[in-house]
Amino acid sequence: MSDNMNAFQNAVAQFDEAAKILGLSENQINLIKEPQKITISKIPIRRDNGDVGIFTGIRVQHSTARGPAKGGIRFHPNVSLDEVKALAFWMTFKCAVANIPMGGGKGGVIVDPKSLSPHELESLSRRYVLEFSDVIGPDRDIPAPDVNTNAQIMAWMMDTFSLNKGDYLPAMITGKPIELGGSLGRKEATSRGVFIGVMKMAEYLGWNLSEKTAAVQGFGNVGSYAALFLHEAGVTIKGIADISGAYVTDSEQGLNVPEMMAWVADHGTLQGYTAEGVTMPDDPMSVLEMNVDILVPAALENQITTRNADAIKAQLIAEGANGPITPNADHLLYERGVHIIPDILCNSGGVTVSYLEWVQNRMGYYWTEKRVNEEMTEIMSGAIREVLRVSEERKISLRMAAFVVAIQRVLKASEIRGMYL
Ligand code: GLU
Repeated sequence: MSDNMNAFQNAVAQFDEAAKILGLSENQINLIKEPQKITISKIPIRRDNGDVGIFTGIRVQHSTARGPAKGGIRFHPNVSLDEVKALAFWMTFKCAVANIPMGGGKGGVIVDPKSLSPHELESLSRRYVLEFSDVIGPDRDIPAPDVNTNAQIMAWMMDTFSLNKGDYLPAMITGKPIELGGSLGRKEATSRGVFIGVMKMAEYLGWNLSEKTAAVQGFGNVGSYAALFLHEAGVTIKGIADISGAYVTDSEQGLNVPEMMAWVADHGTLQGYTAEGVTMPDDPMSVLEMNVDILVPAALENQITTRNADAIKAQLIAEGANGPITPNADHLLYERGVHIIPDILCNSGGVTVSYLEWVQNRMGYYWTEKRVNEEMTEIMSGAIREVLRVSEERKISLRMAAFVVAIQRVLKASEIRGMYL
């Protein structure tokens, strides 16, 4: 058995499987499966040496059936239209499973941001928003951070959009700095959600988290805080991998996650990090196959495939990333009884707090971090309960259950809105 590495085809395969479980008609499928709108634009910038740099920018609005499109912007050399389509598709169902009143969108620029100076990065971010200013907006499509984009980039984008429209429009984007209408708790939100997912599953499985071990692939915003929350809950973190390699240990206390985060804050990546008892395996991908109870893939798509699925030893996989497991590998793991908290549920804490940020921007009234975390915990716990209920009732995987819950909500909204002529 081989894997399809096209993210959109994989996303659609998940949808088709869930549509079959629900017995959807061809008409119903056609109404909600394909993206609503795709915009592709040339993004020119002036490089520091005076040259013109040309990049390709993409924004996909998969669905606005339940509310404005919502989803991040990714800067990465491997961005492609199919990848952005898949990510926008997952956003639709992520918002629906969390039951927040938003649709799904995603953006991307095909660029290696490491090849840009800070000034070039700012130019690219501002020009992206300018090029897409007709299709995005606080009631239309609200971007956010994703791989290689952060609060500073959101600030430049908000500034560009606001200056062009003549109004102060913080609700046009989320994941902003706190000073510009960002929400307390947003930075850690995706990981806090991943942690809530792990906690709820541990409860369900009768596990004591402080006796468990974990490995985390990816040490960006999602992976680092997910590792930290697990570490703080007493989970022994045996392995962490980032772009510079994998860092593993056999020691009883596991990796020192706060120390590793501090290293990244100073150096950008884990490159050069050393500590007693920590070794670096030749193959960074081996972090996925470690002998641990919990695995958190928090990097990119298609990391767990039919090639390594049989070697995975974790009993619980919490998908911090979007689409880290191919459909064929997903089936192999499910048949082996591995519990997988699917991306559209597991990493929905980020977009949930983005929604709360947007709500605060619309009110012009800001909540304490405690209030934000409480609201988010309630939304996520409700979503996890519902997905577990449907999974037990229909005897289907958590992924299929999440899609069943989400598809029903999107379909219902589409059908009630009806057809305009
Ligand atoms: N990029 C994040 C995701 O994939 C967050 C999106 C958002 O906050 O809109 O869920």
